[in-house]
Amino acid sequence: MAIQQILHTANFSKENITQLLSVSGNDERALFGYASRIKQQHVGNTVYLRGLIEFSNICEKNCYYCGIRHDNNDTHRYCLTDNEVLDAVRFAHENGFGSVAIQSGELSSDAFTRKIDFILKEAMRITNGEIGITLSCGEQSEEVYRRWFESGAQRYLLRIESSSEELYYKIHPKDEVHSFAKRLKALESLKKTGYQTGTGVMIGLPFQTAEHLANDLLFMKQFDIDMCGMGPYIEHAQTPLYANKSRLLPLAKRFNLSLKMVALLRILMPDINIAATTALQTFEKNGRERAIQIGANVLMPNITPKHYRDDYFLYENKPVSQQSNEDDLKFLEEQLKNIGHEIGYFGQGNSKHYRKNRS
Ligand code: SAH
Ligand code: SF4
Repeated sequence: MAIQQILHTANFSKENITQLLSVSGNDERALFGYASRIKQQHVGNTVYLRGLIEFSNICEKNCYYCGIRHDNNDTHRYCLTDNEVLDAVRFAHENGFGSVAIQSGELSSDAFTRKIDFILKEAMRITNGEIGITLSCGEQSEEVYRRWFESGAQRYLLRIESSSEELYYKIHPKDEVHSFAKRLKALESLKKTGYQTGTGVMIGLPFQTAEHLANDLLFMKQFDIDMCGMGPYIEHAQTPLYANKSRLLPLAKRFNLSLKMVALLRILMPDINIAATTALQTFEKNGRERAIQIGANVLMPNITPKHYRDDYFLYENKPVSQQSNEDDLKFLEEQLKNIGHEIGYFGQGNSKHYRKNRS
């Protein structure tokens, strides 16, 4: 079927999506142009900010792709103090970010649960309940999710990483701790608890096919997510998956595929929040802006205290290090202005999809 014809089909089939993931030239421009128009119609040209706080790189898990996995002894481990997190929250609040995202390695201890809980309550207190908080602290029990929700977190990001169980176990150990069924259940719990629920996948993983990616998009649609964060897989030398480096697509291709995934998701789910993720910058300095032009509407500037940033090393060439000023607000504002977008200062930028579904 011709591309224009497919684009106007309200419900893409898996075959349609697979075909669209491989387009180039004029067809690619048509895909991006169409996604960009859908975005304008449904979420406009406002970009919402989530100040990203990389809370801790201490993790119990051993995901094969991740640089801060438990067994990587080359990582210097850290955990921000309560005051450091709250200072970052205050900074975000005062500078009109509207929201913060607290991301961390996964821990299931009571001490961790309590620490996050305390931070949430304090963050609410010092901002008069005005700051929006997204958590991304991995799989937790329903009880913990509920406790954090009641203390002030409204959104939670837990990537499915891959919706194919087979591929999931190629990038995770096959054991109780890394169970695919448990990950799905955790996503269900988040939704049930009332969170704006976000998920996402890595794009360009070894062994991943276009069909896997098409199924990932259909999974997100069927799960009826409120938000999404996805980006290219970037190899890290101190991880088991690095052994498959020779199977990887060149970074330029992974980047291009990621843009197509964002564009297609925007067409499939016009009113959700889609983040232009940090990993998109690994290939191109303005990678995130490219994603915003064709579908994303959320940016997550890093506001972690600078001296910790180089320890939160999920993948190689992670762009925002101590010297970088790419997340400086004025700089971002300029970049966005150049592509006809503006920052939604002081707005929480909640998912329109969530509001429509649950109000
Ligand atoms: N521990 C939490 C949150 C921190 S990790 C969790 O796992 O959910 C956040 C995300 O970083 C993961 O979901 C994964 O998709 C991404 N990530 C980890 N290693 C990566 C890599 N090598 N390349 C690209 N993204 C990676
Ligand atoms: Fe830990 Fe998350 Fe990295 Fe897995 S992806 S090792 S859970 S930080």
